[in-house]
Amino acid sequence: MKRVTQFKSNCSSFDRSVRSIPSFTRLVGMEFGGPVWVSHSSQGFTKGTIDDITAQSIVVKKDEDGIKIAAPYDEVFPIDDEDRSVEDHCSLISLNEASLLNNSKLRFEEKHIYTYVGNVLISINPYESINGLYSEDRRMEYKGKSLGKLPPHIYAIAEKARLELKRNKESQSIVVSGESGSGKTESQKSILSYLCTGHATPLQQRILDINPILEAFGNAKTMRNNNSSRFGKFVEVHFDGENVCGGYISHYLLERSRVTSQQSGERNYHIFYQLIAGADDQTLTRLKLDKQPHTFHYLNGCPQFFGNAPSNRCSGETLSDALLSDAQQFNGVVKALESVGLKLEKIGQVVSILAGILHLGNIKFIDDTADMKGGCKVDPSTECHLSHASSLLGVESNELRTSLVCRIMQPTKGGVRGTLIRVALKPGEAVVGRDGLAKAIYSRLFDWIVSKINNSIPLEDNKETKFIGVLDIAGFEFFKHNSFEQLCINYCNEKMQNFFAERVMGEEQLLYQRESIPFNNVQYTSNTDAMALFEGKGTGILDILDEEVRMPRPSYANFTSSLHKKHEKSFRLDKPRGSKEYRHLRDEDGFLVRHFAGTVCYETKEFIEKNKDELHMSLEAAMEGSSVNLLSGLFKTGVDGRSNINKLRASTIGSKFKAQLAVLLQRLEKTGTHFVRCIKPNEHMESGKFNGGLVLSQLRCAGIPSLLTLMHSAYPSRIAFNDLYSLYAPSLPTKLAKLESRLFCKCLFRALGLSPQDYAFGTSKVFFKSGKFAEFDTIVQGE
Ligand code: ATP
Ligand code: MG
Repeated sequence: MKRVTQFKSNCSSFDRSVRSIPSFTRLVGMEFGGPVWVSHSSQGFTKGTIDDITAQSIVVKKDEDGIKIAAPYDEVFPIDDEDRSVEDHCSLISLNEASLLNNSKLRFEEKHIYTYVGNVLISINPYESINGLYSEDRRMEYKGKSLGKLPPHIYAIAEKARLELKRNKESQSIVVSGESGSGKTESQKSILSYLCTGHATPLQQRILDINPILEAFGNAKTMRNNNSSRFGKFVEVHFDGENVCGGYISHYLLERSRVTSQQSGERNYHIFYQLIAGADDQTLTRLKLDKQPHTFHYLNGCPQFFGNAPSNRCSGETLSDALLSDAQQFNGVVKALESVGLKLEKIGQVVSILAGILHLGNIKFIDDTADMKGGCKVDPSTECHLSHASSLLGVESNELRTSLVCRIMQPTKGGVRGTLIRVALKPGEAVVGRDGLAKAIYSRLFDWIVSKINNSIPLEDNKETKFIGVLDIAGFEFFKHNSFEQLCINYCNEKMQNFFAERVMGEEQLLYQRESIPFNNVQYTSNTDAMALFEGKGTGILDILDEEVRMPRPSYANFTSSLHKKHEKSFRLDKPRGSKEYRHLRDEDGFLVRHFAGTVCYETKEFIEKNKDELHMSLEAAMEGSSVNLLSGLFKTGVDGRSNINKLRASTIGSKFKAQLAVLLQRLEKTGTHFVRCIKPNEHMESGKFNGGLVLSQLRCAGIPSLLTLMHSAYPSRIAFNDLYSLYAPSLPTKLAKLESRLFCKCLFRALGLSPQDYAFGTSKVFFKSGKFAEFDTIVQGE
């Protein structure tokens, strides 16, 4: 009989073709002298042989150095077929973390960066261009093919979304996640180019042209990625039937702090360097800029990157070396801004604002000895920057000066607002105000640019049109010091994990229910309690923080203490001393959150300011009165429709983000969803290097081992009775072939002596345990 390798199945989101299942070799039990994988700190797993088995552990002699180690049972796995790779991890003989990692490594070494776990695509960043991987021919190959017909590819996912949009008349979303540098944005670009190229209409071209603008204003060079997106985005392509008819970009949480400071070795947003490197002399003269970015305080976070050839250049830069291409990219960005409808005059205003921010950052403050209240004044050596900033931002120089060195307040007594008073600021406070202004200008400018991009694409979001949306958001973050930014990102990841679990794990189990298959529900880690910890009304972290922000004298210590009080017995939240590493922190300095992906300690010192999104009243007023109409517009009415100060004050960064995420989730819930998990193979942006420990921890964060566990106790291969009948009946005795398809399957299985644990009969399909279909197929073939 012809070897069966593919069946069609397209019922639920998790139904799929059974792909090239390799011939089955019976799993070798773990026995003395038997080869095993044992957990290893840097490689993830390493090979060894069983030396002893005790009640608590398995003693393994490692192949690499002959050293014996006692490992817990759940860290030792049998080795099967270690040298043969498979396209879908579910086709592995043993589904466990070690075989998952080994298969990932084998594939990576073969330069196959994509694999599946069921319908989830795993992509490992190769840090090099792989010949022909994204060619037009390749694109054409995937057109019209169901997932699984061809090797795993990002195009297969894009095509699956396209086909399901067409077939189910339902919008689709592709959720791309992973750590910084894992390849999310490149994946998003590949999906968009798949959807928008090939006889591209001007509209499709415009959608593709947007990316350089977003990257210029929203990406920066960081230690982990030379072109790191510092904001999240959900890009929708709208379809009218099969034709692209519109689009929309939603963006989330631009990293504001980068505008005024960067860690050593990192850069500010690309656009600043592009402007300095690429603008013509006349423009630079007008903007009072010279080609010396390091003279600007906001740009000199990483002086080593201003030479011509940074010494630590690495291969990862081949595709995106910001430094090399700053000058060329500036012209590209200007063209792209024009193509989204910005007149040259407006672009002129954009660059004036950017230059204004840079000069603002160079204004220094010193104690004003003449002021008895300890106020400050502009350092005379930086007067020129005050003057340049004022003229570029279209504000009177003295007005800017006064609003920088003092703040206007309106005290309230018994609910009644008093008269405005002017409070002198200390030099440090003036710096905070100045930086707050720079951040506010830049983030509003970014909002405005995205809104202009959106205006340039038709918004065809109605009942008839459907969309494919691609989500590219920062993955789980965990540094030595974690602050409010990490809290927001990890909250978002917690929410996306929740969505992933419900969609992939939950829906798979629902299918078993529908098919009346007895199935012990797999206890996948539900993180609903973590959602409550963040979002709980009045009790969640975000609400408690907002409450503190609204106090007359908010303090981070108060906030932290009330958080600890409200969650005294919570498993998810703990005091810093709950972890050895953070014993040095006082209770009021921070808190631990046990996330699905690991425990993170957040230090709360700057939480209040970072959550506030507030400027001194006088600075707001100065900007509102700017003669640069783009700038005054940014401060008059928020670009997203908020009508300035009062509304703005009412919403904090945290609550705004929470609201945005709620909208996003509502949107995602109404779509068919596809998941792409991106993995970074090493920390050095180098091609060909596979760090097993690092990869394993990312696979765990992405929930892949629990998905495999589900697949282990579940039935990853399935086929409709009728299909199975038509495949095997022709070559079997007529007596059997005469039976009705369901009965045929039952009799066949019994005749072959299959163990009833290996398969289950549903109402329309038969389901096989992992690897069992291949075994069955082998027996039928008499191999
Ligand atoms: P961040 O969260 O920091 O934005 P990211 O996950 O979006 O990170 P990308 O910017 O997509 O990461 O990828 C980082 C770099 O890795 C790219 O600039 C490119 O050099 C390389 N890279 C990513 N994906 C691929 C790919 N499929 N082929 C070749 N190189 C790639
Ligand atoms: Mg990115």
